[in-house]
Amino acid sequence: MSEADVIVVGAGLAGLAAARLLTAAGRSVIVLESAEAVGGRVRSEVIDGLTLDRGFQLLNPAYPEARRVLDLDALQLRPFIPGVLLTQGDERHLIADPRRRPSALFSAARFTPGTRVEQMRFAAYAAHLASGDGRRIDRGPDSAIGDRLAIFGALSDQVLAPFLAGVLFDDSMTTSRRFAEFLLRSFILGTPALPAMGMQAIPDQLATGLDVRTRTSVVDVSPTSVTTLDGQLRARAVVVATDPATAGRLVPGLAVPTMRSGTTWWHLADMPGAALTGGLPVLVVDPARRGPLVNTVVVSNAAASYLGGAGRGERALVASTALGAGRPGTPATPDEATVRRHLGVLHGVNVDHWETVAVQRISATVPAVPPGTSFRQTPRIGGIFVAGDHRDTASIQGALVSGRRIAHAALKALA
Ligand SMILES: Cc1cc2nc3c(=O)[nH]c(=O)nc-3n(C[C@H](O)[C@H](O)[C@H](O)COP(=O)(O)OP(=O)(O)OC[C@H]3O[C@@H](n4cnc5c(N)ncnc54)[C@H](O)[C@@H]3O)c2cc1C
Repeated sequence: MSEADVIVVGAGLAGLAAARLLTAAGRSVIVLESAEAVGGRVRSEVIDGLTLDRGFQLLNPAYPEARRVLDLDALQLRPFIPGVLLTQGDERHLIADPRRRPSALFSAARFTPGTRVEQMRFAAYAAHLASGDGRRIDRGPDSAIGDRLAIFGALSDQVLAPFLAGVLFDDSMTTSRRFAEFLLRSFILGTPALPAMGMQAIPDQLATGLDVRTRTSVVDVSPTSVTTLDGQLRARAVVVATDPATAGRLVPGLAVPTMRSGTTWWHLADMPGAALTGGLPVLVVDPARRGPLVNTVVVSNAAASYLGGAGRGERALVASTALGAGRPGTPATPDEATVRRHLGVLHGVNVDHWETVAVQRISATVPAVPPGTSFRQTPRIGGIFVAGDHRDTASIQGALVSGRRIAHAALKALA
Protein backbone atom coordinates (compact mmCIF):
# COMPACT_ATOMS: atom_id res chain seq x y z
CA MET A 1 0.00 0.00 0.00
CA SER A 2 1.30 3.44 -0.92
CA GLU A 3 0.88 6.29 1.54
CA ALA A 4 0.78 8.75 -1.36
CA ASP A 5 1.14 8.92 -5.14
CA VAL A 6 4.33 10.95 -4.71
CA ILE A 7 6.69 11.63 -1.83
CA VAL A 8 8.83 14.74 -2.23
CA VAL A 9 11.99 14.89 -0.11
CA GLY A 10 12.90 18.52 0.68
CA ALA A 11 10.67 21.58 1.03
CA GLY A 12 12.94 24.09 -0.69
CA LEU A 13 11.55 26.01 -3.66
CA ALA A 14 12.07 23.09 -6.06
CA GLY A 15 10.32 20.53 -3.85
CA LEU A 16 7.45 22.89 -3.05
CA ALA A 17 6.97 23.86 -6.72
CA ALA A 18 6.89 20.18 -7.71
CA ALA A 19 4.46 19.31 -4.90
CA ARG A 20 2.10 22.16 -5.82
CA LEU A 21 1.88 21.14 -9.44
CA LEU A 22 1.41 17.45 -8.61
CA THR A 23 -1.30 18.33 -6.08
CA ALA A 24 -3.02 20.61 -8.59
CA ALA A 25 -3.02 17.68 -11.03
CA GLY A 26 -5.01 15.64 -8.50
CA ARG A 27 -2.18 13.50 -7.08
CA SER A 28 -1.75 12.82 -3.38
CA VAL A 29 1.61 14.21 -2.26
CA ILE A 30 3.58 14.16 1.00
CA VAL A 31 6.55 16.51 1.42
CA LEU A 32 9.19 15.50 3.97
CA GLU A 33 11.48 18.25 5.25
CA SER A 34 14.35 17.80 7.70
CA ALA A 35 14.34 21.41 8.96
CA GLU A 36 11.79 22.96 11.31
CA ALA A 37 10.28 25.08 8.51
CA VAL A 38 9.97 25.18 4.73
CA GLY A 39 12.24 27.20 2.43
CA GLY A 40 15.63 25.51 2.30
CA ARG A 41 18.09 28.18 1.20
CA VAL A 42 15.30 30.80 1.21
CA ARG A 43 14.63 31.36 4.89
CA SER A 44 14.14 34.32 7.20
CA GLU A 45 14.36 34.60 10.95
CA VAL A 46 13.18 37.26 13.37
CA ILE A 47 15.76 38.46 15.92
CA ASP A 48 14.76 41.18 18.40
CA GLY A 49 11.91 42.15 16.09
CA LEU A 50 14.20 42.48 13.05
CA THR A 51 13.57 40.32 9.99
CA LEU A 52 16.81 38.80 8.71
CA ASP A 53 16.95 36.64 5.63
CA ARG A 54 19.43 33.75 5.79
CA GLY A 55 22.04 35.38 3.62
CA PHE A 56 21.16 38.50 1.68
CA GLN A 57 19.24 37.58 -1.44
CA LEU A 58 16.64 39.06 -3.75
CA LEU A 59 13.71 37.89 -5.81
CA ASN A 60 13.77 39.08 -9.38
CA PRO A 61 10.13 39.33 -10.50
CA ALA A 62 11.35 39.12 -14.09
CA TYR A 63 12.09 35.43 -13.56
CA PRO A 64 9.47 33.83 -15.85
CA GLU A 65 8.78 30.95 -13.46
CA ALA A 66 8.33 33.29 -10.49
CA ARG A 67 5.67 35.13 -12.48
CA ARG A 68 4.05 31.83 -13.31
CA VAL A 69 3.87 30.20 -9.88
CA LEU A 70 3.96 32.99 -7.31
CA ASP A 71 1.30 35.48 -6.35
CA LEU A 72 3.69 38.44 -6.59
CA ASP A 73 1.09 40.96 -5.41
CA ALA A 74 0.56 39.02 -2.20
CA LEU A 75 4.32 39.16 -1.52
CA GLN A 76 4.13 42.99 -1.44
CA LEU A 77 7.46 43.34 -3.20
CA ARG A 78 9.72 46.21 -2.16
CA PRO A 79 11.90 46.99 -5.19
CA PHE A 80 15.56 47.94 -5.35
CA ILE A 81 16.96 50.40 -7.84
CA PRO A 82 17.86 48.66 -11.11
CA GLY A 83 21.57 49.40 -10.86
CA VAL A 84 24.48 49.71 -8.45
CA LEU A 85 26.02 52.46 -6.36
CA LEU A 86 29.77 52.67 -6.91
CA THR A 87 32.06 54.22 -4.33
CA GLN A 88 35.03 56.17 -5.69
CA GLY A 89 37.06 57.88 -2.98
CA ASP A 90 34.53 59.97 -1.07
CA GLU A 91 32.13 60.09 -3.99
CA ARG A 92 29.23 57.80 -4.78
CA HIS A 93 27.94 57.23 -8.29
CA LEU A 94 24.68 55.60 -9.22
CA ILE A 95 25.01 53.47 -12.33
CA ALA A 96 21.46 52.51 -13.24
CA ASP A 97 19.40 51.75 -16.29
CA PRO A 98 18.69 55.29 -17.61
CA ARG A 99 15.45 54.11 -19.24
CA ARG A 100 14.03 53.27 -15.84
CA ARG A 101 15.87 55.84 -13.71
CA PRO A 102 16.70 58.88 -15.85
CA SER A 103 18.30 60.82 -12.95
CA ALA A 104 21.06 58.20 -12.79
CA LEU A 105 22.30 59.33 -16.17
CA PHE A 106 23.94 62.42 -14.75
CA SER A 107 25.88 60.56 -12.05
CA ALA A 108 26.82 57.80 -14.49
CA ALA A 109 28.03 60.34 -17.04
CA ARG A 110 30.52 61.71 -14.49
CA PHE A 111 31.79 58.29 -13.51
CA THR A 112 31.42 55.32 -15.75
CA PRO A 113 34.67 53.41 -16.01
CA GLY A 114 36.06 52.59 -19.42
CA THR A 115 36.38 54.45 -22.68
CA ARG A 116 33.41 55.85 -24.58
CA VAL A 117 33.77 53.03 -27.12
CA GLU A 118 33.69 50.37 -24.37
CA GLN A 119 30.61 51.99 -22.82
CA MET A 120 28.81 52.07 -26.16
CA ARG A 121 29.81 48.48 -26.80
CA PHE A 122 28.31 47.52 -23.45
CA ALA A 123 25.09 49.44 -24.11
CA ALA A 124 24.66 47.47 -27.35
CA TYR A 125 25.45 44.19 -25.56
CA ALA A 126 22.93 44.94 -22.77
CA ALA A 127 20.26 45.78 -25.35
CA HIS A 128 21.03 42.53 -27.16
CA LEU A 129 20.78 40.47 -23.94
CA ALA A 130 17.46 42.05 -23.03
CA SER A 131 15.81 41.63 -26.42
CA GLY A 132 13.89 38.68 -27.78
CA ASP A 133 13.56 35.22 -26.32
CA GLY A 134 15.91 34.43 -23.42
CA ARG A 135 16.54 30.95 -24.79
CA ARG A 136 18.65 32.61 -27.48
CA ILE A 137 21.39 32.99 -24.85
CA ASP A 138 21.69 29.21 -24.59
CA ARG A 139 22.82 28.97 -28.16
CA GLY A 140 26.40 29.24 -29.35
CA PRO A 141 29.50 27.86 -27.70
CA ASP A 142 29.89 28.44 -23.97
CA SER A 143 32.97 30.00 -22.37
CA ALA A 144 34.03 31.78 -19.17
CA ILE A 145 32.05 35.00 -18.65
CA GLY A 146 35.32 36.85 -17.97
CA ASP A 147 36.41 36.18 -21.57
CA ARG A 148 33.14 37.59 -22.91
CA LEU A 149 33.19 40.73 -20.75
CA ALA A 150 36.91 41.51 -21.30
CA ILE A 151 36.05 43.66 -24.34
CA PHE A 152 34.36 46.15 -22.00
CA GLY A 153 37.71 46.98 -20.34
CA ALA A 154 37.52 48.91 -17.06
CA LEU A 155 33.73 48.71 -17.11
CA SER A 156 34.10 44.94 -16.76
CA ASP A 157 36.81 45.11 -14.06
CA GLN A 158 35.23 47.84 -11.95
CA VAL A 159 31.50 47.34 -12.34
CA LEU A 160 30.48 44.04 -13.92
CA ALA A 161 33.01 41.79 -12.17
CA PRO A 162 32.39 43.15 -8.62
CA PHE A 163 28.63 42.99 -9.22
CA LEU A 164 28.72 39.41 -10.56
CA ALA A 165 31.01 38.28 -7.70
CA GLY A 166 28.18 39.03 -5.27
CA VAL A 167 25.55 37.32 -7.40
CA LEU A 168 27.59 34.21 -8.20
CA PHE A 169 29.44 34.02 -4.84
CA ASP A 170 32.59 33.77 -6.92
CA ASP A 171 35.04 36.36 -8.15
CA SER A 172 37.03 34.24 -10.60
CA MET A 173 34.87 35.19 -13.62
CA THR A 174 35.15 31.56 -14.77
CA THR A 175 31.39 30.95 -14.57
CA SER A 176 29.52 29.86 -17.68
CA ARG A 177 28.86 32.76 -20.03
CA ARG A 178 25.36 31.44 -20.74
CA PHE A 179 24.45 31.35 -17.06
CA ALA A 180 25.94 34.77 -16.26
CA GLU A 181 24.17 36.26 -19.28
CA PHE A 182 20.87 34.75 -18.13
CA LEU A 183 21.38 36.54 -14.78
CA LEU A 184 22.41 39.81 -16.46
CA ARG A 185 19.34 39.62 -18.70
CA SER A 186 17.11 39.13 -15.63
CA PHE A 187 18.67 42.18 -13.96
CA ILE A 188 18.23 44.31 -17.08
CA LEU A 189 14.59 43.25 -17.51
CA GLY A 190 13.47 43.14 -13.89
CA THR A 191 13.76 45.10 -10.69
CA PRO A 192 14.99 42.79 -7.92
CA ALA A 193 12.94 43.10 -4.77
CA LEU A 194 12.30 41.84 -1.26
CA PRO A 195 8.92 40.66 0.00
CA ALA A 196 7.77 43.06 2.73
CA MET A 197 7.70 40.25 5.29
CA GLY A 198 11.02 38.69 4.26
CA MET A 199 12.13 36.10 1.72
CA GLN A 200 10.48 33.39 3.84
CA ALA A 201 7.16 34.63 2.49
CA ILE A 202 8.02 32.95 -0.84
CA PRO A 203 8.26 29.33 0.37
CA ASP A 204 5.46 29.96 2.88
CA GLN A 205 3.20 30.96 0.00
CA LEU A 206 4.17 27.91 -2.04
CA ALA A 207 3.60 25.57 0.92
CA THR A 208 0.05 26.75 1.57
CA GLY A 209 -2.35 23.81 1.43
CA LEU A 210 0.37 21.17 1.00
CA ASP A 211 0.95 18.20 3.31
CA VAL A 212 4.44 19.16 4.52
CA ARG A 213 5.97 17.20 7.41
CA THR A 214 8.83 19.19 8.90
CA ARG A 215 11.57 17.84 11.22
CA THR A 216 11.53 14.64 9.20
CA SER A 217 14.92 13.63 7.91
CA VAL A 218 15.09 11.15 5.06
CA VAL A 219 18.00 8.71 5.25
CA ASP A 220 17.35 6.47 2.26
CA VAL A 221 15.20 6.39 -0.88
CA SER A 222 14.23 3.94 -3.61
CA PRO A 223 11.99 4.57 -6.65
CA THR A 224 8.95 3.62 -4.53
CA SER A 225 9.92 4.19 -0.90
CA VAL A 226 11.47 6.63 1.51
CA THR A 227 13.10 5.76 4.82
CA THR A 228 13.07 8.25 7.68
CA LEU A 229 14.38 7.83 11.22
CA ASP A 230 10.80 6.80 12.14
CA GLY A 231 10.31 4.12 9.50
CA GLN A 232 9.43 3.62 5.86
CA LEU A 233 6.82 5.32 3.66
CA ARG A 234 5.79 3.95 0.28
CA ALA A 235 4.73 5.89 -2.81
CA ARG A 236 4.30 5.34 -6.52
CA ALA A 237 7.02 7.90 -7.27
CA VAL A 238 9.75 9.59 -5.23
CA VAL A 239 11.20 13.05 -5.88
CA VAL A 240 14.49 14.00 -4.21
CA ALA A 241 14.53 17.81 -3.97
CA THR A 242 17.20 18.26 -1.32
CA ASP A 243 20.36 20.33 -1.50
CA PRO A 244 22.88 18.89 -4.01
CA ALA A 245 25.17 17.25 -1.41
CA THR A 246 22.31 15.33 0.24
CA ALA A 247 20.87 14.40 -3.16
CA GLY A 248 24.28 12.95 -4.02
CA ARG A 249 24.17 10.75 -0.93
CA LEU A 250 20.56 9.62 -1.50
CA VAL A 251 20.74 9.02 -5.26
CA PRO A 252 23.63 6.81 -6.41
CA GLY A 253 25.22 8.00 -9.64
CA LEU A 254 24.11 11.62 -9.30
CA ALA A 255 26.81 14.13 -10.25
CA VAL A 256 27.09 16.75 -7.50
CA PRO A 257 28.36 20.27 -8.26
CA THR A 258 30.81 22.22 -6.15
CA MET A 259 28.94 24.70 -3.96
CA ARG A 260 29.93 28.35 -3.48
CA SER A 261 29.92 29.84 0.00
CA GLY A 262 29.34 33.25 1.56
CA THR A 263 28.92 35.15 4.81
CA THR A 264 26.37 37.88 5.46
CA TRP A 265 26.71 40.38 8.30
CA TRP A 266 23.54 42.11 9.54
CA HIS A 267 24.11 45.43 11.29
CA LEU A 268 21.68 47.80 12.94
CA ALA A 269 23.06 51.26 12.16
CA ASP A 270 22.72 54.09 14.69
CA MET A 271 21.54 56.45 11.96
CA PRO A 272 18.51 56.73 9.69
CA GLY A 273 18.47 55.07 6.28
CA ALA A 274 18.33 58.54 4.71
CA ALA A 275 21.92 59.08 5.92
CA LEU A 276 23.10 56.01 4.01
CA THR A 277 23.17 55.48 0.22
CA GLY A 278 21.23 58.73 -0.09
CA GLY A 279 18.20 56.95 1.32
CA LEU A 280 18.12 54.75 -1.78
CA PRO A 281 17.45 51.01 -1.88
CA VAL A 282 20.50 50.08 -3.93
CA LEU A 283 23.34 47.56 -4.00
CA VAL A 284 26.67 49.19 -3.12
CA VAL A 285 29.77 47.69 -4.71
CA ASP A 286 33.40 48.70 -4.52
CA PRO A 287 35.09 49.11 -7.92
CA ALA A 288 38.50 49.36 -6.22
CA ARG A 289 37.88 46.31 -3.98
CA ARG A 290 39.37 47.94 -0.91
CA GLY A 291 38.10 45.20 1.39
CA PRO A 292 36.39 41.82 1.54
CA LEU A 293 32.74 42.82 0.99
CA VAL A 294 31.28 42.03 -2.43
CA ASN A 295 28.25 44.15 -1.65
CA THR A 296 26.44 45.99 1.12
CA VAL A 297 22.87 47.19 1.09
CA VAL A 298 20.59 49.19 3.38
CA VAL A 299 17.78 46.66 3.40
CA SER A 300 15.45 48.93 5.36
CA ASN A 301 15.67 51.56 2.59
CA ALA A 302 13.77 49.06 0.43
CA ALA A 303 11.67 47.32 3.08
CA ALA A 304 11.23 49.36 6.28
CA SER A 305 9.13 46.45 7.55
CA TYR A 306 12.38 44.48 8.13
CA LEU A 307 13.08 46.86 11.04
CA GLY A 308 9.93 45.79 12.87
CA GLY A 309 9.53 48.21 15.75
CA ALA A 310 13.30 48.83 16.09
CA GLY A 311 13.59 52.60 15.89
CA ARG A 312 12.00 53.13 12.50
CA GLY A 313 13.15 56.40 11.00
CA GLU A 314 16.16 56.56 13.34
CA ARG A 315 17.95 53.32 12.57
CA ALA A 316 18.76 51.33 9.47
CA LEU A 317 19.24 47.62 8.82
CA VAL A 318 22.29 46.86 6.69
CA ALA A 319 23.23 43.52 5.10
CA SER A 320 26.78 43.04 3.83
CA THR A 321 28.22 39.97 2.16
CA ALA A 322 31.72 38.53 1.65
CA LEU A 323 32.74 35.38 -0.19
CA GLY A 324 33.61 32.25 1.80
CA ALA A 325 32.07 30.88 4.97
CA GLY A 326 35.14 29.94 6.98
CA ARG A 327 33.75 26.46 7.42
CA PRO A 328 35.62 23.25 6.59
CA GLY A 329 36.02 23.00 2.83
CA THR A 330 35.17 26.65 2.16
CA PRO A 331 37.44 29.70 1.89
CA ALA A 332 38.20 31.72 5.03
CA THR A 333 36.03 34.72 5.95
CA PRO A 334 37.34 38.08 7.17
CA ASP A 335 37.02 39.12 10.80
CA GLU A 336 34.53 41.69 12.03
CA ALA A 337 37.13 44.49 12.32
CA THR A 338 38.12 44.08 8.66
CA VAL A 339 34.48 44.03 7.60
CA ARG A 340 33.73 47.18 9.59
CA ARG A 341 36.69 49.00 8.04
CA HIS A 342 35.34 48.20 4.58
CA LEU A 343 31.79 49.15 5.59
CA GLY A 344 33.05 52.55 6.73
CA VAL A 345 34.71 53.09 3.35
CA LEU A 346 31.68 51.93 1.37
CA HIS A 347 29.10 53.96 3.29
CA GLY A 348 31.40 56.90 4.04
CA VAL A 349 30.28 57.09 7.69
CA ASN A 350 31.57 56.08 11.11
CA VAL A 351 30.29 52.54 11.76
CA ASP A 352 31.88 52.08 15.22
CA HIS A 353 28.49 52.07 16.93
CA TRP A 354 26.67 49.84 14.50
CA GLU A 355 25.30 46.85 16.35
CA THR A 356 26.11 43.41 14.90
CA VAL A 357 22.79 41.57 14.89
CA ALA A 358 23.88 38.36 13.16
CA VAL A 359 26.73 36.80 11.19
CA GLN A 360 25.49 34.07 8.88
CA ARG A 361 28.16 31.73 7.49
CA ILE A 362 26.58 29.77 4.65
CA SER A 363 28.77 26.99 3.31
CA ALA A 364 26.42 26.10 0.43
CA THR A 365 24.87 29.12 -1.29
CA VAL A 366 24.63 28.31 -5.01
CA PRO A 367 26.16 25.61 -7.20
CA ALA A 368 29.22 26.54 -9.25
CA VAL A 369 28.29 26.72 -12.94
CA PRO A 370 31.34 26.08 -15.13
CA PRO A 371 31.15 26.63 -18.90
CA GLY A 372 29.33 23.83 -20.67
CA THR A 373 26.89 23.12 -17.80
CA SER A 374 23.52 21.91 -19.10
CA PHE A 375 20.50 23.81 -17.78
CA ARG A 376 18.18 20.86 -18.33
CA GLN A 377 19.66 17.90 -16.53
CA THR A 378 17.94 14.56 -16.93
CA PRO A 379 14.91 14.34 -14.58
CA ARG A 380 15.28 10.73 -13.44
CA ILE A 381 18.25 8.76 -12.18
CA GLY A 382 17.91 5.08 -11.28
CA GLY A 383 14.11 5.46 -11.23
CA ILE A 384 14.24 8.39 -8.74
CA PHE A 385 13.20 11.91 -9.79
CA VAL A 386 15.70 14.63 -8.86
CA ALA A 387 14.76 18.32 -8.59
CA GLY A 388 16.69 21.40 -7.48
CA ASP A 389 18.63 24.41 -8.67
CA HIS A 390 21.56 22.10 -9.53
CA ARG A 391 19.35 20.45 -12.19
CA ASP A 392 18.50 23.71 -14.01
CA THR A 393 19.93 27.20 -13.50
CA ALA A 394 21.52 27.91 -10.09
CA SER A 395 18.86 30.39 -8.94
CA ILE A 396 15.36 30.81 -7.59
CA GLN A 397 14.17 30.64 -11.20
CA GLY A 398 16.10 27.39 -11.74
CA ALA A 399 14.74 25.75 -8.57
CA LEU A 400 11.15 26.63 -9.51
CA VAL A 401 11.54 25.48 -13.13
CA SER A 402 13.16 22.27 -11.99
CA GLY A 403 10.18 21.58 -9.72
CA ARG A 404 7.83 22.01 -12.67
CA ARG A 405 9.89 19.82 -15.02
CA ILE A 406 10.10 17.04 -12.45
CA ALA A 407 6.38 17.24 -11.65
CA HIS A 408 5.56 16.85 -15.36
CA ALA A 409 7.96 13.91 -15.67
CA ALA A 410 6.45 12.24 -12.59
CA LEU A 411 2.89 12.79 -13.85
CA LYS A 412 3.84 11.17 -17.14
CA ALA A 413 5.36 8.19 -15.36
CA LEU A 414 2.31 7.79 -13.08
CA ALA A 415 -0.05 7.94 -16.03
C1 LIG B 1 22.84 33.51 0.64
C2 LIG B 1 22.14 33.13 -0.65
C3 LIG B 1 21.87 34.12 -1.56
C4 LIG B 1 21.22 33.79 -2.75
N1 LIG B 1 20.87 34.79 -3.62
C5 LIG B 1 20.05 34.51 -4.65
C6 LIG B 1 19.47 35.56 -5.42
O1 LIG B 1 19.64 36.75 -5.11
N2 LIG B 1 18.71 35.22 -6.50
C7 LIG B 1 18.48 33.91 -6.83
O2 LIG B 1 17.79 33.66 -7.82
N3 LIG B 1 18.99 32.90 -6.10
C8 LIG B 1 19.74 33.16 -5.00
N4 LIG B 1 20.21 32.15 -4.21
C9 LIG B 1 19.97 30.75 -4.65
C10 LIG B 1 18.57 30.23 -4.32
O3 LIG B 1 18.22 30.52 -2.99
C11 LIG B 1 18.61 28.71 -4.54
O4 LIG B 1 18.99 28.49 -5.89
C12 LIG B 1 17.28 28.01 -4.30
O5 LIG B 1 16.67 28.44 -3.12
C13 LIG B 1 17.51 26.51 -4.25
O6 LIG B 1 16.30 25.83 -3.97
P1 LIG B 1 16.23 24.24 -3.97
O7 LIG B 1 14.83 23.87 -3.68
O8 LIG B 1 16.85 23.72 -5.22
O9 LIG B 1 17.20 23.73 -2.79
P2 LIG B 1 17.21 24.02 -1.24
O10 LIG B 1 16.72 25.37 -0.96
O11 LIG B 1 18.57 23.67 -0.77
O12 LIG B 1 16.15 23.00 -0.61
C14 LIG B 1 16.45 21.68 -0.23
C15 LIG B 1 15.59 21.30 0.97
O13 LIG B 1 15.83 19.91 1.28
C16 LIG B 1 15.87 19.78 2.69
N5 LIG B 1 16.61 18.54 3.01
C17 LIG B 1 17.94 18.33 2.89
N6 LIG B 1 18.25 17.08 3.28
C18 LIG B 1 17.08 16.48 3.63
C19 LIG B 1 16.75 15.19 4.10
N7 LIG B 1 17.70 14.24 4.29
N8 LIG B 1 15.45 14.90 4.39
C20 LIG B 1 14.48 15.84 4.21
N9 LIG B 1 14.75 17.09 3.75
C21 LIG B 1 16.04 17.40 3.47
C22 LIG B 1 16.57 21.05 3.14
O14 LIG B 1 16.36 21.30 4.52
C23 LIG B 1 15.93 22.08 2.23
O15 LIG B 1 14.75 22.61 2.79
C24 LIG B 1 20.87 32.43 -3.03
C25 LIG B 1 21.15 31.44 -2.08
C26 LIG B 1 21.77 31.78 -0.89
C27 LIG B 1 22.00 30.71 0.13
